[in-house]
Amino acid sequence: MTRGPLEQTVRLLGKLPGVGEKTARRFALYILQQPRTFTRELASALLELREQTIPCSVCGNITTEEEDPCPICSDPLRDRSMLCVLESVEDMLSFEQSGAYSGLYFILGGRVSPLDGEDLDPKRIDALKEYVVSGAFTEVIIATNPRVEGDLTFFTVLDALDDCDVKVTRLAFGLPLGGSIGYADRVTLHASLESRVDARQHDKKTGRE
Ligand SMILES: [Zn+2]
Repeated sequence: MTRGPLEQTVRLLGKLPGVGEKTARRFALYILQQPRTFTRELASALLELREQTIPCSVCGNITTEEEDPCPICSDPLRDRSMLCVLESVEDMLSFEQSGAYSGLYFILGGRVSPLDGEDLDPKRIDALKEYVVSGAFTEVIIATNPRVEGDLTFFTVLDALDDCDVKVTRLAFGLPLGGSIGYADRVTLHASLESRVDARQHDKKTGRE
């Protein structure tokens, strides 16, 4: 059965996170009401997003082949003694918007969630270890999300960095439990960065050895 163009667009837009059928229909009808140039720009932006972006070979941020390492990794003004390990690019963008952090990043591109059958790519963990060992970092902040999957991800990263001679910290209070870094406001992110705690000490206190 072939779908009409409207049905097809609604079906595809409806796959986006947080977009139900009603909103998808609203989007599709809105697009139809705009000048043709809008549709062309939208379509070509989507194609470029897919075809011209690559993960930064250093941190995993979204960048282009012409700009690899990404602008953050190659910015001489960033603090090269700090590395912040994050689950996703979305979390990184939230950190950048908060303006609370000026060090470098490493994006895991996943999380540990046995219930969803998700795990970290061992290659990504190896790349992190290599980066920490080869970089001039004095501190690694593991900034996973304040929820069960974030905790599991945190411990996996902490274990992986066991042999690395570097201070490891984790975000502390401020972030609501079950919340998400990607949605945190800048004041909250500021507070949780400011109050980060030594991850290895914390690990001992919670009785995990
Ligand atoms: Zn980068």
